[in-house]
Amino acid sequence: MLIKNVRILGGEPVDIAVVDGLIAEVRPAGSAPAEGVDGVVDGVVDGRGAIALPGLVDLHTHLREPGREDAETVQTGTQSAARGGYTAVHAMANTMPVADTAGVVEQVWRLGQEFGHCDVQPVGAVTVGLEGRQLAELGAMADSAARVRVFSDDGKCVDDAVLMRRALEYVKAFDGVVAQHAQEPKLTKDAQMNEGVISGRLGLAGWPAVAEEAIIARDCLLAAHVGSRLHVCHVSTAGSVEIIRWAKSKGWNVTAEVTPHHLLLTDDLVEESPNGAYNPIYKVNPPLRTAHDVQALRAALADGTIDVVATDHAPHPVEDKETEWAAAAMGMVGLETALSVVQEAMVDTGLLDWAGVAERMSVAPARIGRLSGHGRPLEVGAPANIVLYDPSSRTEVDPSSFASKSRNTPYEGMTLPGRVLATFLRGKPTVLEGKVT
Ligand SMILES: [Zn+2]
Repeated sequence: MLIKNVRILGGEPVDIAVVDGLIAEVRPAGSAPAEGVDGVVDGVVDGRGAIALPGLVDLHTHLREPGREDAETVQTGTQSAARGGYTAVHAMANTMPVADTAGVVEQVWRLGQEFGHCDVQPVGAVTVGLEGRQLAELGAMADSAARVRVFSDDGKCVDDAVLMRRALEYVKAFDGVVAQHAQEPKLTKDAQMNEGVISGRLGLAGWPAVAEEAIIARDCLLAAHVGSRLHVCHVSTAGSVEIIRWAKSKGWNVTAEVTPHHLLLTDDLVEESPNGAYNPIYKVNPPLRTAHDVQALRAALADGTIDVVATDHAPHPVEDKETEWAAAAMGMVGLETALSVVQEAMVDTGLLDWAGVAERMSVAPARIGRLSGHGRPLEVGAPANIVLYDPSSRTEVDPSSFASKSRNTPYEGMTLPGRVLATFLRGKPTVLEGKVT
């Protein structure tokens, strides 16, 4: 396979020769191949000057299978991922049954092997049934065929400090990490949206920033105390950023992610939006926050305080989402719009260059998740996990074009920059001309 005329991280145009799933040569566009390389090249993809990035890696995807195949399956979720430029996703554990045993994580892993349009790395639950009472079989999941390294009760917070401490201690044995959904449950009982001016005006129960920040502060201290790795899921407030910045300044082993929607959208959309007021399309956990928070999150992603963009892709069928606000499910799909939203929020604003995007959407998530075959620089010898992206186009988001089984995107009708042209998983195209192969 020859991928012609692409710009790695936005640099000079090159041709990339791929042999046996690995990058065999990178040479100036149009120049002659090295001895022996072209003889085994059988397909040509014209990149037309697109930007080439290492295949994206998502640390936070809800694939819904097993249990909610009406919302998403491993097949449709990974097709959605491939269309977004992803070559690997971490599948969250809040399936039915919960991925809290070696058996279930191996089932998800096998589904990924069989039906995946990208690599599927199962995340293991921290506690049995996500119930927060008793530690799950972390060691058995780590030793299983799925080789789990990321553990999370995502959707729920491990709020018991003793259990969180034990989990952090336990995962050290196999270089694992605990990914915390930071939400103090008592402070967010019945909470519906960000606590602030708008929630007061709308009469919706508020979700205070302190409910996130208190757990993050506690967990940073616990991680430091036991000398373990903590990853903070979907950071959403300016205060959380301050705490993580402080923890990192101490040299503690703490990493963090932000979602695309928290980099772009704000809580006033609940009151007034092109989609009307009280539209549950904007209902998400953690909630959309204020413009001040968005500014702090962007700055933190730019300066490295936040390491990663993770989608928190959360597909829901129409009947769970198109209902009254209080009853609607929380969450948004995100895989197919992530790169465009990051371009809008971070690149077109001058906060990140393409090398910075690659670091935060591929290199760092692969490192945190310990996926050695992903997030590698596009150099000779690396697996040919590649996304080709055209940042110059602008398109209106049309959910009916999504590969995801669900359509709950907050960007419907918005015009966003950029388009994924092609995605390659170990040299094999999973997406060409924007379409799943
Ligand atoms: Zn979560």
